[in-house]
Amino acid sequence: MKKIEMINPLVEMNGDEMTRIIWGLIKDELINPYIKLKTEYYDLGLKNRNKTADKVTIEAANATKKYGVAVKCATITPNKARLNEYNLDELWKSPNATIRAILDGTVFRKPIVVNNIKPYVKGWNKPITIARHAYGDIYKSTEIKCNKGDSVSILVENQNGEKEKKIIHEFSNSDGIVMGMHNSNSSIESFAHSCFKYALDCKEDLWFSAKDTISKIYDHEFKDIFDDIFNNYYKDLFMENNIEYFYTLIDDAVARVIKSEGGFIWACKNYDGDVMSDLIATAFGSLAMMTSVLVSPNGYFEYEAAHGTVQRHYYKYLKGEETSTNSVATIFAWTGALRKRGELDNIDELITFSNKLEKATINTIESGLVTKDLALLLKDNCKQSLNTEDFIKAIRRQLELIL
Ligand code: NAP
Ligand code: MG
Repeated sequence: MKKIEMINPLVEMNGDEMTRIIWGLIKDELINPYIKLKTEYYDLGLKNRNKTADKVTIEAANATKKYGVAVKCATITPNKARLNEYNLDELWKSPNATIRAILDGTVFRKPIVVNNIKPYVKGWNKPITIARHAYGDIYKSTEIKCNKGDSVSILVENQNGEKEKKIIHEFSNSDGIVMGMHNSNSSIESFAHSCFKYALDCKEDLWFSAKDTISKIYDHEFKDIFDDIFNNYYKDLFMENNIEYFYTLIDDAVARVIKSEGGFIWACKNYDGDVMSDLIATAFGSLAMMTSVLVSPNGYFEYEAAHGTVQRHYYKYLKGEETSTNSVATIFAWTGALRKRGELDNIDELITFSNKLEKATINTIESGLVTKDLALLLKDNCKQSLNTEDFIKAIRRQLELIL
């Protein structure tokens, strides 16, 4: 087979620990033999972030704006322990937070479904994608403890000094607690655009849920913004693509999600998305099988695995011990990015190759050849539990069969 040529580069962001090892293996075994890979490379490994005072993260995000598509390896978000381990000059910010702030994007998490790992919910036979609005609400709130006798109100002062005040609560009988939170229309609008764009991209229905019956101003504003943007920009496109958008109460949404067969995108407010994404990931089987893509309202895409750098496995690897780390979500980050590059640049071979690599990965798992994490889920149906390298080689053999 002649190697597939690319036109525009992918933005490649390398990362840390075990996922960095897997990154190299995937490129060597599954990408470079088949594609004349064109990437603009950024090393987001913690060492290089420290060396560049984290400028490399900003450059990588800006390159994503330039080229439109990025693929990212998991990276360490430093804490105190990492400060010593890597002799850091500073506790650098989470690269994902930096990139998200620059691209103003929304993260979509989607499980990879295989027929021999059954979701806990029997009816689910297609993936459910969670879109979490990652700005504001309780994550940027101000909280105060109150004493019995306190009076709490909310005060808004406009630019002319005019004030509007509303009583929240008079703590006449008991001590208590109070919280003030906000969101901005511009952030909700970006979230809505990203959701509609992603739904069109995957040709799946979009659900949005909130609690507007109780929160008649706050949550209602979310609902209205989604409705306006849908009607003004996306209604016709959704019709052409035979997909649907609807809003429903969060209570109704959870009931419908459980009764559904999957195959849709569920857009959630910040807290709902935080909780529901963990619920969906667990219910589908394994964090190692969860992909993640950041979609900006301008239509830039950054693909990655939802899991971290798998530190525990890396320390074993450093000691020369055998590891069995699941590379599936990282492989799907590559296929997602390559397919998107193919679509944007009209390279059919790149799209076909990405589909085949995904198929080969799924075939490998469905044939009972898996890493340890999945072997535990498959129990008796596991033919062989493979180490990190051999699992990737098994995928390559499947790929050779279907190319
Ligand atoms: P983690 O890397 O997701 O791993 C937690 C545990 O989940 C692992 O120890 C392993 O369980 C299992 N696991 C996760 N991915 C797996 C895979 N591909 N194959 C097999 N098992 C897998 O989370 P963490 O240990 O809490 O975080 C490690 C580092 O990752 C931290 O420095 C954190 O900042 C970073 N992180 C980065 C991202 C990102 O870049 N997007 C996201 C999350 C965390 P067993 O040990 O039981 O085998
Ligand atoms: Mg969570």
